[in-house]
Amino acid sequence: MISLSTLFRLFGGRCFYCNCETWLPMAASRAKMKRRFGIATNAPGSAKAMEYRRATREHVVRVADGGTNGWRNLVLCCRFCNESRGTTPSDEYKAVVAAAIQAGLHPNHGAPLALPKKALRRARREIGMYGPEASHAN
Ligand SMILES: [Zn+2]
Repeated sequence: MISLSTLFRLFGGRCFYCNCETWLPMAASRAKMKRRFGIATNAPGSAKAMEYRRATREHVVRVADGGTNGWRNLVLCCRFCNESRGTTPSDEYKAVVAAAIQAGLHPNHGAPLALPKKALRRARREIGMYGPEASHAN
């Protein structure tokens, strides 16, 4: 499987879905990356804010849907987008993320970070509202 650092280089360090800058845990000190992202060190939620931006590997076609570990099926993705996607198909999720950014609900694009866990749950729920699954759920 393609390494995370190779994916990072291929995507210029940016999330496939929200285009935020991500960071490689092994590449730089957290303090340096916090300064780069404008995250105040030791501020409430700053550790979570960093985690939202951590670079992850993302399967475009989910493994559960038959997606492979081949490089054509892998993109760089921030942890927030990765964990918030759920079962939404990749192309539709891109639109969901764009709507979430527009609505001020994406923590890597200016959404409040004060209550990280609640904010994450709320953002996921809110993002879901804009997603295709919400419109024909139940
Ligand atoms: Zn993202």
